[in-house]
Amino acid sequence: MHQLVEATRAIQQYFDAHPAAGLGFVEAEARMAELREIVRALGYHYYVLDAPLVADVEYDQLFRTLQVLEERFPAFISADSPTKRVGGAPLDRFEKVPHEAPMLSLSNAFDEDEVRAWYDRCGRALESTLGERPQFAVTAELKIDGLAVSLRYEQGKLEIAATRGDGEVGENITRNVQTIHDIPLRLGGEHSQSEIIPDRLEVRGEIYMRKSDFEQLNEQLLAAGDKSFANPRNGAAGSLRQLDSTITATRPLRFFGYSMGGGTGSLPDTQSQVLSWFRSLGIPTNPHAHRFEDIDSVVAFCQRWTAHRDAEEGPFALDYEIDGVVLKVDEISYQELLGARANAPRWAVAFKFPAREATTTLLDIICNVGRTGVIKPEAVLAPVEIGGVTVSQATLHNEDYIVSRDIRIGDTVLVKRAGDVIPQVLRPIPEARSGNEQEWQMQRTCPACSTPLVRLEGEADWYCINIECPAQFIRLLEHYASRSAMDIEGLGAQLAVQLVESGLVAHLSDLYNLSMNDLIVLEGFAEKKAANLLLGIEASRHRPLSRLVFGLGIRHVGKDAAERLVAANSSLAKLKAATVEQLAEIDGIGPITAQSVVDWFAVERNTDLVHLLEQGGVNTNRLPGEAPTPTLKEGSSEVMGKTFVLTGTLPTLSRSEAALRIKQKGGKVTGSVSKKTDFVVAGENPGSKLEKAGALGIAVLDEEALLRILKDTE
Ligand code: NAD
Repeated sequence: MHQLVEATRAIQQYFDAHPAAGLGFVEAEARMAELREIVRALGYHYYVLDAPLVADVEYDQLFRTLQVLEERFPAFISADSPTKRVGGAPLDRFEKVPHEAPMLSLSNAFDEDEVRAWYDRCGRALESTLGERPQFAVTAELKIDGLAVSLRYEQGKLEIAATRGDGEVGENITRNVQTIHDIPLRLGGEHSQSEIIPDRLEVRGEIYMRKSDFEQLNEQLLAAGDKSFANPRNGAAGSLRQLDSTITATRPLRFFGYSMGGGTGSLPDTQSQVLSWFRSLGIPTNPHAHRFEDIDSVVAFCQRWTAHRDAEEGPFALDYEIDGVVLKVDEISYQELLGARANAPRWAVAFKFPAREATTTLLDIICNVGRTGVIKPEAVLAPVEIGGVTVSQATLHNEDYIVSRDIRIGDTVLVKRAGDVIPQVLRPIPEARSGNEQEWQMQRTCPACSTPLVRLEGEADWYCINIECPAQFIRLLEHYASRSAMDIEGLGAQLAVQLVESGLVAHLSDLYNLSMNDLIVLEGFAEKKAANLLLGIEASRHRPLSRLVFGLGIRHVGKDAAERLVAANSSLAKLKAATVEQLAEIDGIGPITAQSVVDWFAVERNTDLVHLLEQGGVNTNRLPGEAPTPTLKEGSSEVMGKTFVLTGTLPTLSRSEAALRIKQKGGKVTGSVSKKTDFVVAGENPGSKLEKAGALGIAVLDEEALLRILKDTE
C-alpha cells in the first residue's frame, strides 16, 4: 500500500520536472504504462474500497496528464486505460446489475477558459451536424459530492436501485435504497394516480450525507469504538454499500435526482424540464439549479459558487459538500446529437472548484507557546502546493485532536487550506504507512521555559502558567503591536523576538522607554528603521482605550469584548475597579470573560504594568466618540442600553443635545413610543407621545431627572 503512495509521489515529481508536453517517444510509452497502473490503483481505493489514498486534486492531475499523453501519443493508448473507464468494478458481494444505458463519468473544466472551451466545442459540433450554430441554453447544477445511483421505476414502483459500478455494471443495492426516506418507493408526488407517471423511468441522482449528519454519525461511531469515515462522501458510500440493509437504515442518507437514464411515454425535452418533472413526481432535486441562455451567465454562476462555497449563512450556505458545478446542454435533442466519448458525455462538463486539500508527509510536530500561555501543536510538513500557495506548516489544534485521529510523525496526511483560515491537518492516511511512523506524545513542560504544563479540567488545551515565560511574552508583544491592537508599524514577529532576546523589552511598558541609541545597535537597524519604529510607538500612545484593552492580551478578551468593556467603563481605572457581577451585566460579556478581566487585574504584575503604561504616556481613558452603543442586559439600571424618547421643549437642553448626552452614556434615542421604550423625557407641549407613555406605563422624566441619571452614571 505504502508503495502506491510512494509511486504516486515519484511520478508527481517526475511530471513536475518533465512536463508531459515535452516528453519523447520512448519515455512516453514507459511513463504512460506507469501512470495507467497508478491511476487505476488509486481509483480502486477510491471507488471500490471507499478509502482514497491521495487528495482528489492529485488524482485529477495524474488523470489529466495521462489524457494529455494519450492525445499526443495515440499509438500507446491501451484499451483498458482508466481514461476509457468509469469508476471501479462492482464488488462481488453484491448482485450485479447491467445498466441499460452506461452511467458515465464527467469530463472536468478547471477554470473559466476550460468552461468556455467546452461550450465552444459543443457549439462547433452542433454546427457541423445542423449546418448552422444554434443558440443553446445550459443548465448549471451544483455538483453534489456523494455517489451516483440509478433507480429503475416500473409502473411508478421502485424496482431496482444500483450503484454506478464500472459504468456498465453496477451493484444491486435496492434493499438499502428502500431505507432512504428521500427516495420515493412509488412515484407520484402530489398526483399519486396521475397519468403523468411513465410506465418505465430510470432516475439517476446522487446519494449524499449532510455535513451535520456526518459529524454526528462519526461521533457515534467513535463512541462505539468503530472506525469513523474520512468525509461525507465516504460516509455515504460506506453506508450505502452495506450487505445488511438494517445498518443502512440507521444512516442519515439523502438523495437528489439529476438526470433521466431512460424511460417510456412522453418525456421532457430539456434538462431543466426534467428537474421540475422529477419534483412533480416526488423526486427531490437540488434547489440551486439554473438554466442560462448564454455562457457569460454560466461562468458568473460558477464564479459565485466558487466565492461562496464556504458560506455559513445566507443563500449560499449548504449543509452538504459540493465539489463544483455540473454544466449540461439543456436541450435533450442536442445532447443526443453531441453523444459521448468513452467515459463521459460531450454535452456535460464538471467545473471543478480550485483544490483546497492535498496530501503530504508530516515531518514533525512542534509545540508553540501562544500569548496566553496556550500550547499549540503545529505540523511541520513537506512543502506542498494547495491552491497556488506553498504550505509547510499547519495547525493540529490540540492534544486530543492528534490522539483521537491517531496522527503519527512520518504519516502521509491530508491537509486543508481554505480561504484565510490557517491550514490544518485533517487526518492521516493510515493505509499509506510504512511502519516507521512514530506515535506522538504531548510534552509536559513548556518548550520555552520548561515550566510544567497544566491542562485544566474540561479544557482541550495545555497551558504554560509561568507569566515570565519569554515565548509567551514574545507572542504578547507581537499581539500588542498588531494592527487591530496598538498598531505599531514595523513591530512584527521577527522584531518582537529581537527586542525580547536583546533584553531591551521585558515588559510592554519598556517599549515606551526605547531610544534611538538602543535600537541603532540592533542587527538590521539603520537610523531610518529605528526612527520609524519610534514614530510607531509614539503613535500608539494615543490609541483608543479599547485597543489597549485588547492589546493587553487578557484571556477571552477579543476585539469585540474589549469594545464592549470600554463602552461600559470610561477608563482603565474604572475597568480595574469593576466587579465580576458588574462586568457580566454588560451585553455580550459572559461570566467567564468577566472573571478573566477581574483575575487579570488581581495580578500585581499587571497592575504595575498599567501604572507603567500610564507613566509612559499611553492613553488609558476612553476617547470622545470611541464608545459605540453598548447595551446593558435586561434588569440593569443606568442609562446604558436603555431606550429614550424625547418629546416637547426642554428648559435648557436642545433635543439634539439631550440625545447626544444620552447616546454618550450608551443609551438609545428613538422617535416613537413603544413597549420597548424605557423612558420618555418630556418638556413643554409634549404632545401624544406623553399620552402613549402613560397608556403603556412608561416612566416619564423631566430634564432635571434626566440630568440626574446621566450624572449618576459618570
Ligand atoms: P466526477 O465525480 O468528477 O463526476 C461524475 C459524477 O458526478 C457523477 O457520477 C455523479 O455522481 C456526480 N454528480 C454530482 N452532481 C451531479 C449532477 N448535478 N449532475 C450529474 N452528475 C453529478 O467523476 P467520477 O468519475 O465519478 O470521479 C472522479 C472524481 O473522483 C474526481 O473528483 C476525482 O478526484 C475523484 N477520485 C479521487 C481519487 C483519489 O484517489 N482521491 C480516485 C479516483 C477518483
